This record gives sequence, structure tokens and C-alpha cells, in this order.
Amino acid sequence: MKPAIIKVPLKKNLYVKWDDNSETIVDLKKLRRLCPCATCAALRDSQSKTFIPIFSENQITISNIEEIGNYAISISWKDGHNTGIYEFPFLKNLSEIL
Ligand SMILES: [Zn+2]
Repeated sequence: MKPAIIKVPLKKNLYVKWDDNSETIVDLKKLRRLCPCATCAALRDSQSKTFIPIFSENQITISNIEEIGNYAISISWKDGHNTGIYEFPFLKNLSEIL
């Protein structure tokens, strides 16, 4: 499974069309909140379960998306954060559509 098309419609969502024709749409706030990098994972662990982070515009604006091999995309955010590697199955799990 690989992305055929990756888009950021209206700068609000990440849209992926996969090579099996399935689709994934993830809200950018959710994508940033669940950033899989070690720094963000540690931060999440230190917060209470009910904590709702408030993001600045730069933190939820994507500046670059790069494919990593055959298994993931790396997302660079406008605030400079670029260590999140989103593996394809993880992304599919975040999708708002089935
Ligand atoms: Zn992160």
C-alpha cells in the first residue's frame, strides 16, 4: 500500500489516495496532536488525558511532505517541527472516513 496522491485541501486536512483506491482524510490539528516523534510522545505522556492543546497557525500548517521509503511520510510543519514520521497504517487509522 502506497500513496498515489497526497494533498492538503484548504490547508485544513491531509488527504491521501492510496494505490488500492482507498482514501484517508485527517484533520491537521489531529495530525499534529498525534505526531509520532519521540518528543511529542513524551509531551503527550506528561499531559493529562483530558488536556486539549491549542496550536498556533504555524504548528498546524504543513510546509513539506516527503515520502520515506515504502512505509511512511515525513511531515514538516511551518513552525520548523519535522521529526514526525507517519507510517502508512498509522495514517489510515487516523482517517475520518472509512
Ligand atoms: Zn513531533
